[in-house]
Amino acid sequence: MADVARKREVGRGERVLPGIWRLRLPLPWPGVPHCNAWAVAAGDGVVLFDTGMHEPGSLGHLERALDQVNLRLEHVRLVVCTHAHSDHYGQAAPVLERAGCELWMHPNHEHMTAGVDDPQAALARRLEVARQSGVPAEPLRRYAQARRGQGPGIAAMVEPHRELVEGVTVDSDLGTWHVLETPGHAPSHVCLFQPDRRVLISGDHLLGRVSLYYDYGWTPDPAGEFLASLDKVGGLDARLCLSGHGRPFTDVAAHVEANRALVAERLNATEQAIASGPRPAVEIVPEVHGEPLSAGNAAWWLSETLCYLTHLERAGRARRSGTEPELWEGVTAPT
Ligand SMILES: [Zn+2]
Ligand SMILES: [Zn+2]
Repeated sequence: MADVARKREVGRGERVLPGIWRLRLPLPWPGVPHCNAWAVAAGDGVVLFDTGMHEPGSLGHLERALDQVNLRLEHVRLVVCTHAHSDHYGQAAPVLERAGCELWMHPNHEHMTAGVDDPQAALARRLEVARQSGVPAEPLRRYAQARRGQGPGIAAMVEPHRELVEGVTVDSDLGTWHVLETPGHAPSHVCLFQPDRRVLISGDHLLGRVSLYYDYGWTPDPAGEFLASLDKVGGLDARLCLSGHGRPFTDVAAHVEANRALVAERLNATEQAIASGPRPAVEIVPEVHGEPLSAGNAAWWLSETLCYLTHLERAGRARRSGTEPELWEGVTAPT
């Protein structure tokens, strides 16, 4: 049997610095095999930054990772979520219940929590965006069918006890962490910075491998917000980044720059694609990414491209017309 059994991913814990532990937790997503939670020493326990996703057996993975570094859920004194995506917030409810502690998170978490309260409405909303973007009926039907069977990855909706907005600080044995509001990837996104050690807990705002994702439809200009958040984080002079996925990395400024460059490249490709408009978004996406749409990438890439189109529209460089589907074309700047 052993030769046919696939190696099963399990939670793992490791010390990164004295008083900081990386808890690497498995994810069921193709292409994104793990996420990180970070435990930071605080008095007789730890602050837990992010929680991992909720699914059958997931709390056991977190407990296993904690156990490997001699910690237990009962040591958690506070849960801080960098944003409300399921892989960062999904297990907040059971951790709070076991640890008897508070949750701190940014108040703009509706982009995720609305879907927990009403998953059918959230799915209908995504389908409507896709339909308006010109996605044909048949793949949409298949997508809807596949999604209907999936849970949100969040154990239960918990309101934060404290809103993580600029000015709020989190105390730890390694010093005070300052909240930076960094929307773009998600409206609820924050980073936490410890200025004496120049350590940044970056969630999904900065990852070791550049990977752009924006929640579309909750704020006016996610791509623009992301660029502003990059400026904010780029000005910190952080020297170590603890991100939501992947290993810690040190060349923080280079990662900020690489993100800026990729956004600029994709904005440019979007502008080129609409120069020959009017066209529906579904036709523009493959030109922005240089690859055809597939069932696996369609939802992610479509919302990303819509964010670029919206960004250009706000800058007066794109306009839309029609509704069935919506069509996009470039606007030439007056000379
Ligand atoms: Zn995320
Ligand atoms: Zn994530």
